[in-house]
Amino acid sequence: MTAGKASEHGWDAVVVGAGIAGLTTADALQQAGRSVLCLEARGRVGGRAHSVAEGPHAVDLGATWFWDNEALIQSLLPGLGLGAFRQSTAGDALFDAQDPNPQRLDGNPVDGPAWRFSEGAQSLASALTARLAPGTLRLSQPVLAIRYGQHGATVETADASFSAGHVVMAVPPSLAEAAISFTPELPHPVRETAVGTAVWMGNIVKAVATYSSAFWLEAGLSGSAISYRGPFREFHDHSGPSGSPAALFAFAPAARFQGEPMDRIAEAFRDQLVHLFGEEAATPQSIHVTDWSREEYTTPAAPSPGAGTYNYGHPVFREAVGGRLHWASTETADEFAGHLEGAISAGLRAARNVARLDEKEQLGAK
Ligand SMILES: Cc1cc2nc3c(=O)[nH]c(=O)nc-3n(C[C@H](O)[C@H](O)[C@H](O)COP(=O)(O)OP(=O)(O)OC[C@H]3O[C@@H](n4cnc5c(N)ncnc54)[C@H](O)[C@@H]3O)c2cc1C
Repeated sequence: MTAGKASEHGWDAVVVGAGIAGLTTADALQQAGRSVLCLEARGRVGGRAHSVAEGPHAVDLGATWFWDNEALIQSLLPGLGLGAFRQSTAGDALFDAQDPNPQRLDGNPVDGPAWRFSEGAQSLASALTARLAPGTLRLSQPVLAIRYGQHGATVETADASFSAGHVVMAVPPSLAEAAISFTPELPHPVRETAVGTAVWMGNIVKAVATYSSAFWLEAGLSGSAISYRGPFREFHDHSGPSGSPAALFAFAPAARFQGEPMDRIAEAFRDQLVHLFGEEAATPQSIHVTDWSREEYTTPAAPSPGAGTYNYGHPVFREAVGGRLHWASTETADEFAGHLEGAISAGLRAARNVARLDEKEQLGAK
């Protein structure tokens, strides 16, 4: 412990990160009767599941969809009191490449069938948080250092240290490796694998525009488009349940905007919407832009150029380092890595592993 820091102890596990993986871990451990502290760097829960209120509902600046084959998420929703609705797919899609005007396709090959959260994807995080015992979660607590050893782990923030039997890293492994100091150092294969594990969607800009009405639907368009004539590549309808708020969103590679101010990105988004959907797109009620590559608590400041998805679900993430340090972000999931479903699956695995090792230890102590 660093001299002068407040120190607290007594938890079975400290979970680092209150995204979907961390909250799932904390929830599952508490349901298994374990004591948990969850430390979150941001002033909000949800991580890459981030929604903002718009009219009676919300728009998603990070994750949006889940799919029919994702069983964990679907089994969670009723117990959390969360509703879902179908992604709107009706109408024609647009394809915009060389022709002066976007080409109207017959139907919509861009959108597959998917589900959305009635109150936005972040509502999953809020509902999981509401289920935690009071005092479990502490916001605005960036973890800076972790010591782990035979008898447990100590997690340090700028002004406090927290000791527990186990620590669960519910942050992307490459971010953890870059931003947190580990003592002892992570074993070489774990460190190398973590550095090479790209943050899913960590190099993406997402922009959302809301409108007073869904003029594209009135014109028989779905709102979806693939474009090669501007920085934004992929467009989708993002209207709320029953159509309110009316909204469109798009993704762009963050590399297209390096160093550009956010209002320039918003302008480029609006210009592209006008080119695709006409003059009515020029007057949105609001535009929200998130460049996930600039988010300190999502993407490392200097990601390894060789990082990719080939390490997703790597076996090193399944085992606790030194029997004490567990991995739980979506990138570490055996299935659906990258998705919300993967975050839940990885969180459940980490909770099972902590409980199993903890039980073994208790039996050994008898
Ligand atoms: C633009 C975008 C669109 C997406 N669309 C979809 C989609 O449609 N469907 C889908 O299934 N998935 C989608 N995803 C992926 C989905 O968001 C992720 O799979 C999921 O949210 C990851 O959860 P996680 O808990 O593993 O990680 P995160 O959400 O990244 O959570 C990590 C948490 O750790 C915190 N943290 C970081 N560093 C520290 C530290 N030092 N100390 C303490 N806390 C720290 C962070 O603030 C964060 O809250 C999308 C992602 C993005 C960015």
